[in-house]
Amino acid sequence: MSELTKVRQWGSEAETPKRAVLPAMLNGALGKCPHCGKGHIFQGYLGTRPACEECGEELYHHRADDLPAYLNIFITGHVVVGLMLMIMTMGDLPMWPMTFATAFVALAFAGLVMRPLKGATIGAQWALAMHGFGGHDD
Ligand SMILES: [Zn+2]
Repeated sequence: MSELTKVRQWGSEAETPKRAVLPAMLNGALGKCPHCGKGHIFQGYLGTRPACEECGEELYHHRADDLPAYLNIFITGHVVVGLMLMIMTMGDLPMWPMTFATAFVALAFAGLVMRPLKGATIGAQWALAMHGFGGHDD
């Protein structure tokens, strides 16, 4: 990661280290720092630390905003609709248990994937030097 390259960042060019996107996203999805992979990016469920406790990488630059929620809706919707269609092919079941079961599955699944999606988003933003991660003001 010592190789320097010119990266176009929102209309300006600056020297930033070249960063691999997929490992950073994987580290973020696991709740680890996208830079060192050892420290943690979350405090609490979805709150982010201002900086990594291991390497000191500043994490407050992230602007994950609504992207993890949009991805969550997209993924959870496909899983739940697929589950509903599978259950419907099993026979003529009453509507109310299927409604409660799929609502529970949707809430549980959405809660399970939200944190990894936010971490992966932060990892991607870090690797692409977005929003101040490249050493420039946003
Ligand atoms: Zn770190």
